[in-house]
Amino acid sequence: MGGIPIEKALSALGNVLNGLKNKIPFLKNGNEEATIIDGKKIAADIRLEIKAEVDALKTKYGGRVPGLAVVIVGERKDSQTYVRMKRKACDEVGIHSFHSELPETISEEELIDVVKKYNENPDCHGILVQLPLPKHIDEEKVLGVISLEKDVDGFHPLNIGMLAMKGHEPLFMPCTPKGSIVLLERSGVELKGKNAVVVGRSNIVGMPASMMLNKKDCTVTVVHSRTKNPKEICRQADILIAAAGSAKMIKGDWIKKGAAVIDVGTNSVEDKSKKSGYALVGDVDFDEAKKRASFITPVPGGVGPMTIAMLLQNCLDGGKRAIEGTK
Ligand code: NAP
Repeated sequence: MGGIPIEKALSALGNVLNGLKNKIPFLKNGNEEATIIDGKKIAADIRLEIKAEVDALKTKYGGRVPGLAVVIVGERKDSQTYVRMKRKACDEVGIHSFHSELPETISEEELIDVVKKYNENPDCHGILVQLPLPKHIDEEKVLGVISLEKDVDGFHPLNIGMLAMKGHEPLFMPCTPKGSIVLLERSGVELKGKNAVVVGRSNIVGMPASMMLNKKDCTVTVVHSRTKNPKEICRQADILIAAAGSAKMIKGDWIKKGAAVIDVGTNSVEDKSKKSGYALVGDVDFDEAKKRASFITPVPGGVGPMTIAMLLQNCLDGGKRAIEGTK
């Protein structure tokens, strides 16, 4: 009787060790490079999971599906592209999308009325007002009108407040920082008890990212433009989230050996080798950092694809709460 051939046994053992090395950074030998976190693949997996949940909801509740309202004012090309991408992503997973394309000249009152109508529409479970709005409109005022239960961007002060408070959970969390945390979790990076550093403190990325890491039991330090010794602070980080909007500012020697690095930065820099004349780079010097980190996200293809996946996830969560009657 022949047992398992020796080559097969060795190959199986090799796979197990590789799997372990990805989970336990110190098993990597000194010269090994970081595992690249594939945001595109993780986001695609999440979209498939969302589609399956939408289908299940539809079957169980007589065709009802989550609905997202996307409101756009004016004709900015970049905003139109983002909105198109969001609608296409909704279609792909079976989320119904409503669309309001409004003229640049619309008054604040008229825009608020549009948002209020979506607040009252029982088939709409998420409202997204594409920013920036024209100068004559107060963004805070418009965003403040979105009902808490439909705040799929997670920017409502009450949702942010609940994110900050112990013993409370927000109804929605902002998509980009949420996507960053999901990338870490899906890569098997342990968060509890780790030193985390977030570079940036904006309302949409840095600040909510730091609160999410705190909720995950990390010990969190925030670095911003007035921080005196950012390099020394970053070097203490087991988990580093970079969201400063400053091309390649975080060099290899800012990274602790074995750290997990999430690069949110999306900076356009001149690149004559590209047809467009520019390239997108992160806040982290990727080529240097990957020699020290255990995990790292690329730019593009890291956090970017997760933002829309998390928007879909938030729409699904809002839709489920309303359709299942759990809110
Ligand atoms: P932001 O509003 O400009 O905030 C930048 C933050 O970084 C601020 O808190 C600022 O500090 C801090 N900062 C700037 N330069 C710094 C430096 N040299 N050292 C330390 N801190 C510094 O930007 P944001 O909206 O948060 O976006 C950050 C980056 O993420 C941008 O590159 C943006 O394009 C990208 N982004 C990507 C996605 C995505 O889906 N992939 C989504 C959103 C944003 P102060 O508070 O002291 O000014």
